[in-house]
Amino acid sequence: MAVLGLGYTVGMLTVEEALEQILGRTPVLETESLDVTCALGRVLAEPVVSTREIPPWPNSSMDGYAVRAADTRVDAARLRVVGRIAAGAMPSRGVGSGEAMRIFTGAPLPEGADAVVPQEDVEAAGDVIGIATVVAKGAYVRARGEDVRQGDRVLSPGQRLGPAEIGLLATLGHSPVRVHRQPRVAILSTGNELADLGTEPGPGQIPNANTYSLRAQVTEAGAMPVNLGIAPDRLEAIEERLGWGSDADVVLSSAGVSVGELDLVREALTRSGAELHLWRVSMRPGKPITFGSWGRRLVFGLPGNPVSAMVTFELFVRPALLRMGGRTVVERPRLVARARAPIPNPGARRGYLRVRLARCDHGLEAELTGDQGSAILRSMTLADGLAVVAGDTTVAAGERVDVIPLREF
Ligand code: AMP
Ligand code: MG
Repeated sequence: MAVLGLGYTVGMLTVEEALEQILGRTPVLETESLDVTCALGRVLAEPVVSTREIPPWPNSSMDGYAVRAADTRVDAARLRVVGRIAAGAMPSRGVGSGEAMRIFTGAPLPEGADAVVPQEDVEAAGDVIGIATVVAKGAYVRARGEDVRQGDRVLSPGQRLGPAEIGLLATLGHSPVRVHRQPRVAILSTGNELADLGTEPGPGQIPNANTYSLRAQVTEAGAMPVNLGIAPDRLEAIEERLGWGSDADVVLSSAGVSVGELDLVREALTRSGAELHLWRVSMRPGKPITFGSWGRRLVFGLPGNPVSAMVTFELFVRPALLRMGGRTVVERPRLVARARAPIPNPGARRGYLRVRLARCDHGLEAELTGDQGSAILRSMTLADGLAVVAGDTTVAAGERVDVIPLREF
C-alpha cells in the first residue's frame, strides 16, 4: 500500500475498510451459563422460547367485582355478591347469571365472569351491588397469555440483556441463562512522560489519562478491563508488560505507535510474536492505527493523544468488543442533526468532530464543542457525539450532518 504525505487520502483505508478488516478477524467468544441475577448487560447466546402462558389465567386489572357483561344494563343492574377472590388464590366457584364476585387486582377471574367493574363504579349494600352502566365484555380483564404465549420466541441470540429482558427471563423461570463470555481487555499505556494516578507529575511528566478513559470505555462496551500499567519507552519493559496480558482476549496499548525512534510498541509486539498491520486510516483525529493478531488475541495500538485514543477506540475497538461478546449489531445508530453554526473540516481526511447536541423544533442541532485538538480531552466531556464530516468540507449553518451519539442525552 502506497503511503503518501498527510493530507492525501490515496493509499489510505477508509474507516469502513479498516473496520471490515478488524471484524473479519474478530472471533465471537464462547458461551457460559449464568444465573439471571448476574446476567445484566450480557449478550444472549440462545433463543428463549416460553414454556409458560403469561398471565396463566384471565385476571382482574382492578379492585372491583367480576360480572357477566350481559347482565349489565343502561338502567342499572342489581347483582348478588356470591364470593370474594384475592390475588394468590383460585376462585372456589363460578359466577352465574345475576351474580357477581368481589375481586382484587391480579386475582383469577371466576368461571362464567367475563368483565370486571371497578369498585368506584358500584354501589354496594350488603351482598347486593348496583351497577348503573353497561359494561363491555373483557373490561378490566387481562386475558390469559396476553403478554406471552407458550411457544413464543421472546428473545433472540445476540440481544443484550437489559432490565426488561432480565424481568422477562425471571417471569419465564429461565435461569440459568446462556450468554457469551465477556472479553478480557488488557490495557497498556506507554511513555516515559507518564505519571500514574496517585502520583504527582514530576518535571517533564504529564498525568496518565488513557489508561483510565480506555478502561472506562472497555467497561461501557460490556468487557472486562485489566490494567497493565505504564511501560517506559524501553523495548524490554514494554515486552515484559505485554506478556502480563497473555490471558487477555484483546491487548490495547496507547501511544508509541508512530514512527519516532521512541515508538517501540510495534517492535515489542512483533518480537512477542504478534502479526501486525499498520494502517493509515482517512480520519481525523487519529494517526495510523495498529491492528493485529497475537495467537488467539487481537491487538490494537492506539494513538497516544487522549482524544485520538478515545475516538479510535469508539470506531474500531468498541465494535470488535461487541462482536466478541456476541452482539449482532455492533455499530452505534446514527443521528441526523442540523449545524447550528458552520462545522468546518479542513484537510482531506474525514472528520469525527466533537459536537454538543440540543433539541429544537425541527429535531436536533449540533454545535462544535470548541477547539478540536486531539490532546484536548476536556472537549470530549462536553461532547454528546461525533459529527461525521467529509474531507475538505464545511457543513454550513442549517445543513444536515450525521452524528454518532456517544451518550444518552
Ligand atoms: P506518542 O504517540 O507516544 O507520541 O504520544 C502522543 C501524545 O500523547 C504525546 O503528547 C503523549 O505525551 C500523549 N500521551 C501518550 N500517552 C498518554 C496517556 N496515557 N495519557 C495522556 N497522554 C498521553
Ligand atoms: Mg510516546
